[in-house]
Formats: sequence, C-alpha cells, structure tokens
Amino acid sequence: MGIAREPLIFHPGPKLVYRQENETRTVLGINGMRIGAQAVAVMAGPCAVEDLFQMRAIAAAIKPLGISILRGGAYKPRTSPYSFQGLGRPGLEILAQVRTEYDLLVVTEVMSPEDVPLVAAHADILQVGSRNMQNFPLLRAVGATDKPVLLKRGMMSTLEEFMNSAEYILLEGNSRVMLCERGIRTFEPSTRNTFDINAIPFLQRVSHLPVIADPSHGTGRRDLVGPVAKAAIAAGADGLLIEVHPWPDRAQSDGQQSISPDELEQLMNDLRAVATAVGREL
Ligand code: PEP
Ligand code: MN
Repeated sequence: MGIAREPLIFHPGPKLVYRQENETRTVLGINGMRIGAQAVAVMAGPCAVEDLFQMRAIAAAIKPLGISILRGGAYKPRTSPYSFQGLGRPGLEILAQVRTEYDLLVVTEVMSPEDVPLVAAHADILQVGSRNMQNFPLLRAVGATDKPVLLKRGMMSTLEEFMNSAEYILLEGNSRVMLCERGIRTFEPSTRNTFDINAIPFLQRVSHLPVIADPSHGTGRRDLVGPVAKAAIAAGADGLLIEVHPWPDRAQSDGQQSISPDELEQLMNDLRAVATAVGREL
C-alpha cells in the first residue's frame, strides 16, 4: 500500500493570507507594474541612501537594464547604534527626487508607525524589515495605508509566524502585500544568514501573495548573490531584491554583500536565461 497523499494545502482556513483551494495567486498592480504575474520583478539599489550623487548613479545604472524599482534605506535598523543610521527625512527626499528624474518606483523601509505617513508620501512601496516583522503596531499602520508593502521575514521566524504578520496587514484592508524571504539564522557561520529556498515554493503553495527573494541579506556575500538569485528564480520567486552600489567597497552599510552595476548587468543576463527556462520573463 502506498503512502496516502494529502492535498498540498497547508491550512485551508479563514485567514486572508492563505490560498484557498482553487484560488488563483494574487497579482499586485503598482503603477502599471504587475508583481506575481509572468514577469519576475527586480528591485535594486544600495542598502542605504547616502547622497544624491550615489542614488543618481544607481538609478542611471538600473534603468537601462529594464529594472523599474529602486531600493534604498533612509531609515536603517542597524545592529550597532554606532553604525550609520541612515539619512532619515533628507534620504526620503533624495529618493523622491530620483524617482521623478528617472521615472522609477521606490521601495524603502519604514521603522516606526509614526513615520508611516512621511515615508508613504515619498515612496511607492513600504518595506517592513526583518527586525520589525513582529512590530504589530507598525504592521497595522502600513496595513491602513494604500501603499503596497514588502514584508521581510524575521530572521528567526517560522513561515507560519511570517504569514501571521502578513495577516495583520491584510486585516487592516491593505491586500497589496509581498512576502520577502531574506534568510534566517541557523548554526552555519560561513554566511550571514541561511537563505531558505524552501520558503519560496512553500509560501506560494500556502499563500496567494507574491513571494520575493533577497539573496543579498540571504547570503551576506557578494560572490553568492548571483547563484542564489538564480536558484530563487528557478524555485519560482516572483521578484528579487538585490543590493547594488556604485562603489561597493565604500558603502556605508552592507558593502560586503553589494554588487557593482557591471556585475548586476551580467547577472541580469544570466537571470533572464533562468527565467525563460522556467516559463517566466525578466
Ligand atoms: C535591508 O533591506 O537593507 C534590510 C535592512 O533588510 P533586512 O530587514 O532583511 O535585514
Ligand atoms: Mn542592507
């Protein structure tokens, strides 16, 4: 007798985040872009906004590659209080200026509920970082906006906890949520985090929300960003979040995992081939 095969639905139940049997996956519309559809979305830019010159350099580099979402943190959740904390409001103003100049969409992190209106006024997508995945007042605050949310997985959170955090946002009426796998802490010290490739197909099976992969924080090493990005697309990711800096060795944060614009150009070619092989576009 064979093993009984259960339907691969995790928890069909009342939660908004779950995909009910036969329910199709959600496609998020953001200013004409469609995330979760055939095309894999790429979001690229430095870890932190440092100055206008840097952000213009990155915008000018990504635009010809067909990348239309620019990332960069103005509010940085740093482990050490002595590390660069981000430019704050002036950083948001730089993002908004570059967004207009280069006709790009902007994704940037918001760290506290009080800052949500200000960040929402300067960005197209609100990022909730790994360290804030269970900041419930923040989740409710972004859930009360009309901006799409990029929710990053807590570095020590299970997938069930991750989906519950998304549920907080959905419950406030905001259904444009993307789930971002960005690596978790394991016993392995060779890489900054362990990128959980399982999370991609698992979340897509259990939830209807688009799944984004962050191979930069997932590995912490620029030489591993490309291979893990390719694996993520092969596993079905709906988008990628990649840290790129015009001068990675001079970055104020996360330089060791940032790739250069030239490396990004090469990577995009490689990623396009993988996307095509799995029936996607890039
Ligand atoms: C970031 O995107 O730069 C960031 C701080 O990510 P995470 O919250 O995943 O650490
Ligand atoms: Mn970073």
